[in-house]
Amino acid sequence: MNFEFTEEQKLFADSVRRFGLTHLEKDALKRAHDPRFPFDVAKLMSQQGLMGITISEADGGQGGTLTDAVIAIEQIAAVCPRSADVVQFGSFGPIRTFAEYGTAQQKKRWLPELLSGHMVMSLGMTEPEAGSAATDLTTTAKPDGAHHIINGTKVFPTFSPDAAVFLIYVRFGPGVGGIGSAIVERNTPGFAIGPPQQFMSGEEWCELHFDNCRIPAENVLLGPGGFKKQMSGFNVERIGNAARALAFGRYAFDRAREHAQVREQFGRPLCEFQGLQWKFADMAIKLESAQLLLYRAAANADRGFPSAYETAIAKAACNQVGFDVASESVQVMGATGYSRAALVEYCMRRCRGWMIAGGSVEILKNRIAEHVFDRRFDQRGRSHADAAE
Ligand SMILES: Cc1cc2nc3c(=O)[nH]c(=O)nc-3n(C[C@H](O)[C@H](O)[C@H](O)COP(=O)(O)OP(=O)(O)OC[C@H]3O[C@@H](n4cnc5c(N)ncnc54)[C@H](O)[C@@H]3O)c2cc1C
Repeated sequence: MNFEFTEEQKLFADSVRRFGLTHLEKDALKRAHDPRFPFDVAKLMSQQGLMGITISEADGGQGGTLTDAVIAIEQIAAVCPRSADVVQFGSFGPIRTFAEYGTAQQKKRWLPELLSGHMVMSLGMTEPEAGSAATDLTTTAKPDGAHHIINGTKVFPTFSPDAAVFLIYVRFGPGVGGIGSAIVERNTPGFAIGPPQQFMSGEEWCELHFDNCRIPAENVLLGPGGFKKQMSGFNVERIGNAARALAFGRYAFDRAREHAQVREQFGRPLCEFQGLQWKFADMAIKLESAQLLLYRAAANADRGFPSAYETAIAKAACNQVGFDVASESVQVMGATGYSRAALVEYCMRRCRGWMIAGGSVEILKNRIAEHVFDRRFDQRGRSHADAAE
């Protein structure tokens, strides 16, 4: 067992940090408060080889590992937290599932623009009545000659105000086995995108409405039976989500550490008060332990998709730690930390969302408990109404 990065990984981390310092640090605050996708950053990252880190060279990516992509998130988030979303998009998001399962024709059509930073993709899985119970989704795709007709509604899709293409989870038939996915382009007739709405983080999302939306059959990504494959791809997304939560927590921690050394009260720097020293010690313990879980999940997955269990443990830990540390950092910095002029409060708000998105902490704990007891726990118990009968 080795807890050190390889020389190559250290050089990569250094080069990403230098890129971030040169191109991204200056406008970090402005970018954090801009809800739209930063295409300028995506284009720069593409030129720097930071898009498609986990995507094969044959598909136009960098052919790197999941650990490389985690390193990129850490280094970028350390200088410009918001720009880490671009690494997420280019290496962990729906693009990774798309590159894994797309046909040669589909990849040729969309990957070049996605990887060059000119286009962004959004994932439509959640529905008004299907959140944590994702397999309850009711958006249908019915074959009609050389087309499929899509009907249904999706909510909360990240990057939807700016996306040109959408990876939509659809139902071809009943049950989990009937679930698959399709690619829908923004201006397809029958596809209406609602006005942007805002999360606590400031990020915007739009409702997606499909009303007899006709797509060519070749836009189907995974047909019936594709749900399991989609969830394997989704574990990659979860690693990126975990990496950002931890990196945002660390960003807040670093700012609080700097602050505690220069801010004086009662004639002494804050860091000399034991009440605050122990907060920093607790934060350090949390950050270091969650980081090991994240690296384990990423490193063990390098030849493919990460394990569901290791991913669940890593994401649950990183989401909780990222939020706890960012929140404690706000506390340590007082009103300065709570101010929108510092990025610490932004990190706290973003981390809060990741405890819900991409598999909530509770749903991940359900998965972990199944591993602990080595059995499946069906969440669909009898309702109170049924039980009363
Ligand atoms: C920042 C952000 C970005 C998002 N991006 C996307 C996106 O790009 N694409 C997309 O499709 N969706 C996206 N979502 C939606 C996200 O996937 C859902 O919010 C998530 O699946 C939870 O569903 P829900 O909000 O409907 O909550 P619900 O499913 O209604 O759950 C409510 C609460 O109950 C808990 N709960 C539910 N079932 C159980 C159970 N069996 N055991 C214990 N606790 C349970 C949940 O953990 C949660 O705390 C995003 C959400 C956020 C916050």
